[in-house]
Amino acid sequence: MNPRDFDPGAIPAGTKRRLWLEFPAGALELRLPLLVARGAEPGPVLSMTACIHGDEYEGVGAIFDFFETLDPEAITGSVIAAPVANPPAFHAISRTSPLDQANLARVFPGRDDGTPSEALAAVLDGCVIAHASFFLDLHSGGVRYWMPTMAGYYTEDPRSLAAARAFGAPVIWGHPVIPPGRTLSCAQARGIPFLYTEARGAGRIDPADAAVFARGIRNVARYAGVLRDALEPGPKPVHLMGDGNTDRGIEASRDGFLVPEVQPLEAVRKGRRVGRLLDLDGSVIEEYLAPVDGVAAMIRLAPSVRAGEPLFLFAERLAEAA
Ligand SMILES: [Zn+2]
Repeated sequence: MNPRDFDPGAIPAGTKRRLWLEFPAGALELRLPLLVARGAEPGPVLSMTACIHGDEYEGVGAIFDFFETLDPEAITGSVIAAPVANPPAFHAISRTSPLDQANLARVFPGRDDGTPSEALAAVLDGCVIAHASFFLDLHSGGVRYWMPTMAGYYTEDPRSLAAARAFGAPVIWGHPVIPPGRTLSCAQARGIPFLYTEARGAGRIDPADAAVFARGIRNVARYAGVLRDALEPGPKPVHLMGDGNTDRGIEASRDGFLVPEVQPLEAVRKGRRVGRLLDLDGSVIEEYLAPVDGVAAMIRLAPSVRAGEPLFLFAERLAEAA
């Protein structure tokens, strides 16, 4: 189906559809799978994406399970999901696209006549995000990074915090600014409330993370008003605050072998050594110090690093009861 012909209102009430959008992306033709469920009654639209980065699998599996078990007669409104939002990167087991080396989460809202990643972003914006009354973007640490299993929210929108609490992850992380180029900045520009998630990654799906995401999607669907049954509460979350932009973490200044010296969510004082980078003869190239009093909220997993790649991100932990 051409994305221009996609009309969620044309799906018969009380049914589910698996659609493939087909469109030119640069000199290529891309195919994007889309899952759409339309309830018997009109109402809110929950839009979701997963696998914006091609090596992040937790959200893919969770959306597949959610859609498979969803009874469209039992929902109010609609669900629109792109479970594998970046098929070229998925097939390459890569965070970025093999077609243009772009990070899809930096090129939104994209453009129809742009690079392959820009064309893909434009279709995701127009066919998924634009229809939403709530937007959920499912990420993970992927192959190279450890991230906490968490829901990330926008501190300036109370609906985003409410959805983060509803999701029920063990960690919630508030961000005062949403950087440009993301799915979330598209939702923000459209006035649509949103939430994103992370999980532990490492190139596989941990069953505990799968359970958190499965419950989390159902809970966000309840928060959005698409499902009508009661929230399933999660654990009392650790509450982090601060800039979650992985582009601004501690970076390697050269290629090398990373030796992290900090554990996930470990509390550190500003100035403590948290890792070293070794040359391939074992000599120390550089040492990394915690930039703030806080906790390790992102850690590079793969020891092989290239100059310029982010290695660590630290966040403030709120002492108040979350
Ligand atoms: Zn991601």
